[in-house]
Amino acid sequence: MLEKYLKSFTTLRTAKNKKGWSASTCHQAPHKPFLLLSIMDLIAQGQITENFIEPSFELVDIWNGYWNAIMPVGQQSTMAHPFPRLRSDGFWERICNPGFDADADYKVTSMVKLREIYTGARMDDELFQFMQIQDSREKLRAALVNTYFPPEIQPRVIEQGFVNLASYEYSQTLLKQEVAEQATLFGETDEPAKKKKIRDAGFRKAIVSLYEHRCALCGIRMLTPEGHTVVEAAHIVPWFESQDDKPTNGLCLCRICHWSFDEGLMSVGKQYEVLVSKCVQSDRNIPGHIQTLMDRPIFKPEQKMYWPGQENLEWHQKIKFAK
Ligand SMILES: [Zn+2]
Repeated sequence: MLEKYLKSFTTLRTAKNKKGWSASTCHQAPHKPFLLLSIMDLIAQGQITENFIEPSFELVDIWNGYWNAIMPVGQQSTMAHPFPRLRSDGFWERICNPGFDADADYKVTSMVKLREIYTGARMDDELFQFMQIQDSREKLRAALVNTYFPPEIQPRVIEQGFVNLASYEYSQTLLKQEVAEQATLFGETDEPAKKKKIRDAGFRKAIVSLYEHRCALCGIRMLTPEGHTVVEAAHIVPWFESQDDKPTNGLCLCRICHWSFDEGLMSVGKQYEVLVSKCVQSDRNIPGHIQTLMDRPIFKPEQKMYWPGQENLEWHQKIKFAK
């Protein structure tokens, strides 16, 4: 019966058009293959354990990751396109919110619209079971990669899946505050570039989830419906100095606070209060709300074990902060 789904996966109804889609996706829209790969990534990570696929932040984030890794810079799209349209491939049942009809073909072009109409989707139980078994999951994955991507792009798609899994495992290790052997952190890879990708993505996952997408310094949380977040994971003592990805060496910061922190215009004091350098007022600067943050308590993770380490904050005050 796996054959049946392998066939479905190699004959997905996709938009085919030489002008719109380049050779890097075999002149077809890659939305559906990316969605199925993303779902299998979350199943492999143990984040999807039941046959109900929600348009969750995690799923959107992984889908965006595939898109950004393979598609040309500047070409944008959204997981809202393939999510309802997979129904036409025969193994995907849409689940609606009350008041909507699962059989109707609504015009869905944004995640806002998608979530307004659908709570999620269910696959054929048999297909879901195949996805839960590593061996058949790999076959399904290979069918997608080999059908919708040319040989020179295939390694990049495969690597993205590998990085997704390895970085998730790395983030879980960081959250356990374990000092793991490098070998176990990065699976089979010893390529420095791939290791960096896994480390960066794993650190980001751990920090952003601990701080619930809130900036530690100014407290803002902003997420677009398409799953883009204003915050980034920052090292207190930079990686090249510390080689330390533990949450105690991390802060979740919005882009402006990240820049200000790295430039030494902001720091964090002994009582976990925001420090703002006098330099923000110099010359022709108009620091706006940054000035109002002075002495305010920072936003911290719930569990104390994840709070920024005092020794790391001291390093930042001493070496970076422009008093
Ligand atoms: Zn901020």
